[in-house]
Amino acid sequence: MRASVLLPDRTLAIEERPVPIPEDDEVLVRVSSVGVCGSDVHYYKEGRIGDFVVDAPLVLGHEASGTICAVGSRVPSSRIGERVSIEPQRPSPLSQSTLAGRYNLDPNMRFFATPPVDGAFQEYVTIQDAFAHRVPDTISDDAAALLEPLSVAVAAVRKAALGPGSRVLIAGAGPIGLAMALTARAYGAVEIIVAEVDERRRHAAHDFGATATIDPTAEEPATPLQVDAFIDASGATPAIRSGILALRPAGVAVLVGMGAREIALPLAVIQNRELVITGTFRYANTWQTAISLASAGGIELDRLVSAHYSLDQVQEALEAAARPGTIKSVVQPNSV
Ligand SMILES: [Zn+2]
Repeated sequence: MRASVLLPDRTLAIEERPVPIPEDDEVLVRVSSVGVCGSDVHYYKEGRIGDFVVDAPLVLGHEASGTICAVGSRVPSSRIGERVSIEPQRPSPLSQSTLAGRYNLDPNMRFFATPPVDGAFQEYVTIQDAFAHRVPDTISDDAAALLEPLSVAVAAVRKAALGPGSRVLIAGAGPIGLAMALTARAYGAVEIIVAEVDERRRHAAHDFGATATIDPTAEEPATPLQVDAFIDASGATPAIRSGILALRPAGVAVLVGMGAREIALPLAVIQNRELVITGTFRYANTWQTAISLASAGGIELDRLVSAHYSLDQVQEALEAAARPGTIKSVVQPNSV
């Protein structure tokens, strides 16, 4: 099979590799669509994210869908032919975090496209049976791949405790911020305010559930917004500060975007308003919710797709993903 690999010198190459053989508890998936994520762009542009360094050839891509074409010995062969969305992680089965239902926090997690684990910019991948989630035919191949960023949004919206009538401020209108806005609406939020510096992205936010947008470079409003929840999908220090200040007493801030490792926080405000500040790390137990939202809950993930690319065009897909005019680039490893 063909695989697109990122080399340590940050160039991309096509490698011929053997089709992987599924282990006992795995399925083999012929990959249909793979969304390009900000983390893929980081590895391509910088060769690392924090302590994870690309020091050997790495296959990028972790937002993937496909069709099961073979199964391991402990998986029913009736699964062959199923269209699936891949939850791109493999926790250790008996860690304390896994047993507690927070398998995303397992310290020994093996996650797609994170060194040394290969991702899905290749024709075939293997994944554990339980992490190949069957999707109905109402969900396209692209949408099945984008259940991954939707899962990021579901995890954040759950932490933010959004519900009917909620008022939420979201910072950042990249693909994750837009997925947050769509999810907030599906969870019943009535005011969804999106703060974003790029004018085109502010415009896009209105098409994806925002009821209002803010240009953070303009003057701050004289009266605070007093929102129930703030979700950061920007990683920008000033956005995080403004978002925390916009919370009502006992409001919740969920920090999802990645930026500076440390920032100053308005401590007196956090104390006097009894604010809750938390992060999210990927997701756990989100796929069934995401599938329901995408199949019957009014979230149209296909509208996030900006353009399609073949395996030979992964570099173009990554370059396009880095431009603010792009929402989501999708690679189709088996297209020609
Ligand atoms: Zn992602």
